[in-house]
Amino acid sequence: MTAPVASGRVLATLNSDGSRRWIRPKPSYGAHWRQRRAVAYALIALYLGIPHLRLNGMPLMLLDLPRREFTLFGTTFLPTDTLLLMLLGVSILLFIFLLTALFGRVWCGWGCPQTVWMEFVFRPLERLLEGGWAGSRQLDAQGNHFHVGRIIKYALYAVLAAVLANTFIAYFVGTAQLAHWMRQSPYDHPTPFVVMAVTTLLVFLDFTWFREQTCLVACPYGRWQSVLLDKSSLIVAYDPTRGEPRGKPKDATANAHTGDCVDCNACVLTCPTGIDIRDGLQMECIHCTQCADACNTVMTRLDRPTGLVRYTSREILTGQARHIVRPRTIIYPLAFLLFFGAFLYALTHRPTADVTLLGEVGETPFTRNADGTVTDQLRVKIANRSGRPHQYTVTISGDPGVKVIAPELPLTVINGQNATISLFLISSASLFTHGERLITVVVDDGEHLRFERTWRLVGPSEREHAREKEKTS
Ligand code: SF4
Ligand code: SF4
Repeated sequence: MTAPVASGRVLATLNSDGSRRWIRPKPSYGAHWRQRRAVAYALIALYLGIPHLRLNGMPLMLLDLPRREFTLFGTTFLPTDTLLLMLLGVSILLFIFLLTALFGRVWCGWGCPQTVWMEFVFRPLERLLEGGWAGSRQLDAQGNHFHVGRIIKYALYAVLAAVLANTFIAYFVGTAQLAHWMRQSPYDHPTPFVVMAVTTLLVFLDFTWFREQTCLVACPYGRWQSVLLDKSSLIVAYDPTRGEPRGKPKDATANAHTGDCVDCNACVLTCPTGIDIRDGLQMECIHCTQCADACNTVMTRLDRPTGLVRYTSREILTGQARHIVRPRTIIYPLAFLLFFGAFLYALTHRPTADVTLLGEVGETPFTRNADGTVTDQLRVKIANRSGRPHQYTVTISGDPGVKVIAPELPLTVINGQNATISLFLISSASLFTHGERLITVVVDDGEHLRFERTWRLVGPSEREHAREKEKTS
């Protein structure tokens, strides 16, 4: 039975019968490519290096999900910092919106790890081992999946996938923990081992099989382009006014109206997402500038001006002036400044420790002692975010009627960690009014932190106290 054939346009990565169309782009080593390569290698070094870097004795970046603690640039965000993280998250989102409004999909073409690793590591390796882009195409056409170069390629891809997966996991557990796991048998840490194996497999499948489809169908950022770009945004585009009507160079002599596009297909052959830039702005275009480099080479060879495919905007292509200042380039930066300013203010004004007071654990709110006194339990949880270890004291301010028993004081808490201590507060039963009395709890680190909070002790009411007194007398 033959597969039905699509009548209209299909995804660039599919044939019209729905089978996979493998894209093996022909590289174009132009000026844009050289600049992108420099950026890509710097980003690769950064990606591999960040988990090993430290600032103020803290990891530069550590996203500790189980403990819900995020360390970014030496600053630790605890679960109580939800507002701070929300402000940071919205700021990043607004920055991306602004960047896209001004420079289009510059992130996709220049900075995204998918593009960087695919175009500057995995594809070059493929071309090296399979006899160039044409060699890869030939192997595809022959259905030769056991070519020695292709097998070596898969083996190297597996090693690279393991390196990437381990680096990725280091962002979540830290390099010391990762190294510890690597020295142990998988039986000693089965869950992390499974996570690492699955991540390696996903990375391997992504760069081996899924490839450009990540950008075309899976990435949400790619889908947002229809709303994030406007006619003034910077895009990589073909200039139809200059290029059309297309024709081979020899046609130009016979037909005076032939445009600069010689229909050589170089821009299509080089496109890593398999599209034709001459069809206009498309969601599949990741603005990688490969087509611009390819076309510039052709134009130079023909002694024509370069830039038939270039960075431009839809406004410029239709003969209008480009508008840098427009509603979205005013609203996005203002909103960004507002949220990022609020984030910086909250970050620089947050206390050096988070203190939480918690009541009695158990069925009764207080305990009666044989000598007629009452014991209340108070738990104090301290999260240290000062950047170094601290010793904390907990006292009851201005109330000589309360005796504090706390053998764990002073409490030492290392930076980025939290600890909880129990205090037993003993007071005379006669001091309670309507079954309660207010005290002031003070937590002090001897330097910057002085935390004061009113706390309600629970005890017997006057009537209960009188009844107890009668019983014992
Ligand atoms: S059309 Fe050009 S810029 Fe867009 S993805 Fe293809 S090669 Fe890159
Ligand atoms: S590379 Fe340039 S000249 Fe060749 S087909 Fe593409 S746009 Fe036309």
